[in-house]
Order: sequence, then structure tokens, then C-alpha cells
Amino acid sequence: MELVYCLCCGTRTTEQLVDGVPRARCPKCEWVHYHDPKVAAGVIIFDSKKRVLLVQRAIPPVDTWTFPGGYVDRFEDPDKAACREVFEETGMTVQTTELLGIYRAQDSPVLLLVYLGEATLKSAPPRALHECKDARYFTQEEIPWEHLSFETTLRALKESYATRAEARVE
Ligand SMILES: [Zn+2]
Repeated sequence: MELVYCLCCGTRTTEQLVDGVPRARCPKCEWVHYHDPKVAAGVIIFDSKKRVLLVQRAIPPVDTWTFPGGYVDRFEDPDKAACREVFEETGMTVQTTELLGIYRAQDSPVLLLVYLGEATLKSAPPRALHECKDARYFTQEEIPWEHLSFETTLRALKESYATRAEARVE
């Protein structure tokens, strides 16, 4: 219950229980402010040497590493949002191959959809672009496990290795 004024009519909202949850409600027009989850999407890209693509953040948490990703826009498909974020952050064109999982950190409103993906044949090599300080591939041993951006980054990366190890018999 943080919203103070009704987004519909500008009246000061009051706190009321709606569906058993305290929510900001307009006493004049009855409009209720629902805190919806935020949807984000990311892609874990492996190259042919089984190295994984990580970017170093230039935005908080600064200097930490994660796979590319970001918020999904309204009416945007999450897999396309994930590929768009990779392009914006690294200049690479990639495609998703499967959904790895959906992750949420405790007390976080963000639902993170993580895909596995691969660079297209004509993709440029990774370079640090939007909101990034660095962008490159890491072997599993080289991954900066102690400097990952989020707890969900760690969980998804670990699960991607578990999935890939079984799936990739070459
Ligand atoms: Zn109102």
C-alpha cells in the first residue's frame, strides 16, 4: 500500500483489505491498485566450446556478472524480449532453444524467465554495449561464481550446466 493518489481520479487513496490483502483503494471511484509482478527474461548462451556468455553490469549491482536479460515490455513475447536484451547489451543476434525455468528471488516481485539459446551463424562476437562494462565467454571454471549479480543468476547458471551436461552428448 504505497500508492497515495488514485491513478483514475486523483483522490487520496485509503488502505483497505481487498482479497485479504491490504491495498490502496480509491474511496471515490473504488479503483484498486494491484501490485502486479514484474516480468523479466534472460538467455544463457553457450558457444561451441561449452563456454557461457556473461556480461559485467555497469548499473547496480555494478561490476557483477550475469547472463544478458532485462524487463519484458507489455505485449512483447518473453523469448523475443530476451533476444532483444542480448542484442542491446552485446550486439549479438541469438535465438532461444528452450525455456530453462522461471525464477524468483525471495521477497522480489520479479519473475525471471530464463531461456537457453545460441548465437546465430551470422552473429557478431560479444562486445560490451548498453549498461555493460564487459561481455565475454567463460568456461565453467572461469565463471566468477562469487561475483554474480543475483541469487537467481547463480541458480539458473547451475541448472543450465546440469541440463546441458545431460543433453549434450556429442
Ligand atoms: Zn479514484
